[in-house]
Amino acid sequence: MILHIPHSSDVIPRNLRDQIVLPDDDLAAELTLMTDAFTNELFALPEATILRFPISRLLVDVERFPDDAEEPMSKVGMGMIYALTSSGKKLKRALQPREMRNMVSLYYEAHHEALLREVKNELEKFGKALIVDCHSFPSHPLQCDKDQSIPRPEFCIGTDSFHTPKALSQTTALNLKKMGYRVRMNKPYEGTLVPTAFYRKDRRVASIMVEVNRSLYMDETAGEKNSAFDSIKKQLQSLLLSIRQFQQESQPDARGEWRAITQQ
Ligand SMILES: [Zn+2]
Repeated sequence: MILHIPHSSDVIPRNLRDQIVLPDDDLAAELTLMTDAFTNELFALPEATILRFPISRLLVDVERFPDDAEEPMSKVGMGMIYALTSSGKKLKRALQPREMRNMVSLYYEAHHEALLREVKNELEKFGKALIVDCHSFPSHPLQCDKDQSIPRPEFCIGTDSFHTPKALSQTTALNLKKMGYRVRMNKPYEGTLVPTAFYRKDRRVASIMVEVNRSLYMDETAGEKNSAFDSIKKQLQSLLLSIRQFQQESQPDARGEWRAITQQ
């Protein structure tokens, strides 16, 4: 099982700081809004492979399609390389073609190659691979968000009709409901990450997105953990264990549909 953690970092390497035109305090505020803070601590399971993007999504967002034509968020200036902030202000200066190529190859492509390697590795070892795409989201919609409805759920499960086994999304949502949470499927955020090489081609590669409402575990204004952090982390651990159990007890059949091993 692979835990993919794309948005937990607030690191802006010093040599890339000048790409961003915001003064320090505005940058800090934008980082607080946009970073899935502490998700690298919340989503943790021994034995799982963890793939965390090391720098801030404000520099390059590995969760976006590289081609703006395919990426709906490019319409609000937030494609693979954001031009605008979450409130539509100017975020970056124009990048030179060489700088752009560097951001793509050193960060975006390097990250996706690492993910692809891990997926191939799992396929080789087990004949199946499972990605958990790990995120958090603000309790109030950002200006750039397509879905502005409130109140937002406490957990959002993102699925892909091809790559998310129904039994997996249903069990995951049910487990969260049993813990007492309000859960929505694909609201306010939809989909889940799958490497392009397998996207809509190979059902042996399964993927599910788990998004936690930040108000559960942190003070969203101060950007600090709240007193519930440890208990939310424990609940997420048990959720991840149930996802791993699904992976262990299910197997893709000849068509790639995941079925419980005992029923085959
Ligand atoms: Zn995220």
